[in-house]
Amino acid sequence: MAPCGLEHKMRKKDCILIIDDDEAIRDACCQALSRDGYRIETAEDGDTGLQKIREIKPGIALIDLKMPGMSGMELLEKVMDIDSNIVAVVITGYATIESAVEAMKQNAYDFLPKPFTPDQLRVVTRRGLERRRLTLESARLQQEKKKMRENFIALVSHQLRSPLVSIQQNLEVFLGRFAGEVTFKQKEILESVNNRIDELIKIINNRLSITCIKSSKIVEKFEPVSLVPILSETIELLRPLAERNKITQKMDSPDSLPIIRGNRESLKQAFTNLISNGIYYNKEGGTLTIRVREEENYLVIEISDTGMGISPEKLPFIFDEFFRVKTRETQGITGSGLGLPIAKSIIETHNGSIKVESEPGKGTTFSVLLPKIEVRQ
Ligand code: ADP
Repeated sequence: MAPCGLEHKMRKKDCILIIDDDEAIRDACCQALSRDGYRIETAEDGDTGLQKIREIKPGIALIDLKMPGMSGMELLEKVMDIDSNIVAVVITGYATIESAVEAMKQNAYDFLPKPFTPDQLRVVTRRGLERRRLTLESARLQQEKKKMRENFIALVSHQLRSPLVSIQQNLEVFLGRFAGEVTFKQKEILESVNNRIDELIKIINNRLSITCIKSSKIVEKFEPVSLVPILSETIELLRPLAERNKITQKMDSPDSLPIIRGNRESLKQAFTNLISNGIYYNKEGGTLTIRVREEENYLVIEISDTGMGISPEKLPFIFDEFFRVKTRETQGITGSGLGLPIAKSIIETHNGSIKVESEPGKGTTFSVLLPKIEVRQ
């Protein structure tokens, strides 16, 4: 338990906002709570309450349900939009089950029916502040855990890459016969080892690329870019792969499109991942279509294939790191399960979004939304 003085000091920092049109209630609450050392603010209506919430960011808002103008319920919804961590306690003179349930649905923490005693008010306030402290602490710990995991993976990836590259260089010395003759059988084994090391290095590079995207390095290189040339270059780059897999690539876009702000190389990487998936997971003789169009403030890029599709149970996980669908159809396709998380991170760094629709046996469509800027290309 915190020593008395310390507890008092901690509480002093907590700010409580009382929003009630009844001056007598506001005064009574102030009196009851100021004894505990809180900082107290009041508002006589919803609008003033909202303004104070934006300005002073209180830990708790005590909200009267029945006020002229904006109702308490309406206010509650707006308060949660401003700060979902505010602990809202609803005060009402007509405590019915329905209004309590309604307030809880709007994320109110508790319900205080009038008349209430100063002690009841203090107990609810103390509990509410404790809950807020725990919520904020838990969010902070989650954030810290995420950061530690990222740092750990980045560190391990860096440390693994150098020895692997060095092993690969040595293998190439053998394969190039610079260290003496190599029999056909030995060459076969060495080549297989080399291929596996290649895959490992690719996984590590992909993982490092996620860390790089998350640390916002790509934002530093944002510039106005037009998307169609990026898509055309990507299609061209992947043409040999498409031809090998007997896939026809098609592109359908209007003559003139607005430009976007972004990092050319990383956008190319995101679309390479999406388009190459549309080739790998397609059927022999299938089609991959890329459609681009404007929709309100966005450019929409749809990448559709006519391939194996993804089952509804697996679909929610495909943007998770290292997730791969394991079926008879996918077993011959090598990959790392990092292509989609990389594409998603890049697109979100561009303030865009990505979604997927798929029908097993028919095909998959990835839709990417990127915010446009009004200048046309
Ligand atoms: P990788 O392709 O390297 O395994 P991704 O992160 O790019 O990793 O994709 C994750 C998984 O999602 C793939 O393993 C595959 O099972 C599935 N997937 C991705 N794109 C498609 C697609 N166009 N059609 C069917 N399945 C797909």
